[in-house]
Amino acid sequence: MSRWFSKPKPKRRFTRRSASNGFPVEAEIHLKTRWRADVFKMSMDITFLGTGSAYPSPTRGASALVLRREGECWLFDCGEGTQTQFMRSHLRAGRITKIFITHLHGDHIFGLPGLLCTLSLQVNPDPSKPPLDIYGPLGLRCFIRKSLELSHSQLLFPYVVHELVPTPDQCPAEEFRDFSCLDEVSQVAQGRILHLDPVENSYLLLEDEQLVVKAFRLFHRIPSFGFVVEEKPRPGKLNVQKLKDLGVQPGPLYGKLKNGTSIVLENGVTISPSDVLENAIPGRKICILGDCSGTVGDAAAKLCYGADVLVHEATLDDTQEEKAREHGHSTPRMAAAWAKRCKAEKLVLTHFSQRYKPGGDGDADVAEMKRQAESGLDGQEVTLAEDLMTIEIPMKKGK
Ligand SMILES: [Zn+2]
Ligand SMILES: [Zn+2]
Repeated sequence: MSRWFSKPKPKRRFTRRSASNGFPVEAEIHLKTRWRADVFKMSMDITFLGTGSAYPSPTRGASALVLRREGECWLFDCGEGTQTQFMRSHLRAGRITKIFITHLHGDHIFGLPGLLCTLSLQVNPDPSKPPLDIYGPLGLRCFIRKSLELSHSQLLFPYVVHELVPTPDQCPAEEFRDFSCLDEVSQVAQGRILHLDPVENSYLLLEDEQLVVKAFRLFHRIPSFGFVVEEKPRPGKLNVQKLKDLGVQPGPLYGKLKNGTSIVLENGVTISPSDVLENAIPGRKICILGDCSGTVGDAAAKLCYGADVLVHEATLDDTQEEKAREHGHSTPRMAAAWAKRCKAEKLVLTHFSQRYKPGGDGDADVAEMKRQAESGLDGQEVTLAEDLMTIEIPMKKGK
């Protein structure tokens, strides 16, 4: 078994309460250790909650996956039944802080209003809590608002929807709809409208000192998007021996150097971080593509280049390529070609037609899809996602 991959884990329960403050024990540990990245080792993993296309079945839920980083859950797509898949997993839906929707087909969004309502039942209203950020194509805000409004559902937490404006070349001309006029002038916080950056050919969703998230365009029956989550490089280790030789004792000065600030010693000697820091540790890059038969524009290959994990759909097997393309989908060979072009470290296939049952007991052989993808990648191992499968993404080492 490779270092990446783990079978579905049994559900962990954290019902034990801390005697001191009533926080669940896990939450308390998290609070206490949040500032010490080394304790959590910047853990990152992906759990597939639904790996089937079109509709949920007992063997494959509809599209949804969670990228977890240091205990925070980011949900990508939310097909029907995602909330029950959460309950079956070791994850807690209450930990979701951001949601990303690749496109507006029902098998990717029909679980969203229900999940939001259930989350609302579980929260204690807290005005200081930042709103839940939801990113997705233009029209998503209206879908959420209308679903909640028509079902008389009121959320007890704030949310904002940031909409990506697609371009007409992301789908067949007859399928393109302009949803820009859907939003009434509104009451609630809007969120941003994100247009394609014409220079970068991508959409900048968020950026902080630790990571950057961008979206790029895909071709499908309706406009679809891929997301790239990329960590920024971390400063390398301090060369403690060198510091001691220079007469710098452990203390706050170490922290300054680590944070990129030069220091001046009492003897007037200046030490800059590059003098005593080893090489920076590269961040991890995760690419999650929505339904597609290809990409649009030239930014996607650059953005996905060197991905540590590339999650790509493979709705049908290679013998069905014509049908797959007709419906804006991919086959294992097509996904492998993309992974090869991007020099992705690891390719994970998902969004299988319900005929491909995990374990190969469906009408069609899922193992054959693995072979097809691997032959397109010169034998490099390819993972076929299953519901509740977790893939750990280890931190990289400094060079
Ligand atoms: Zn789909
Ligand atoms: Zn679709």
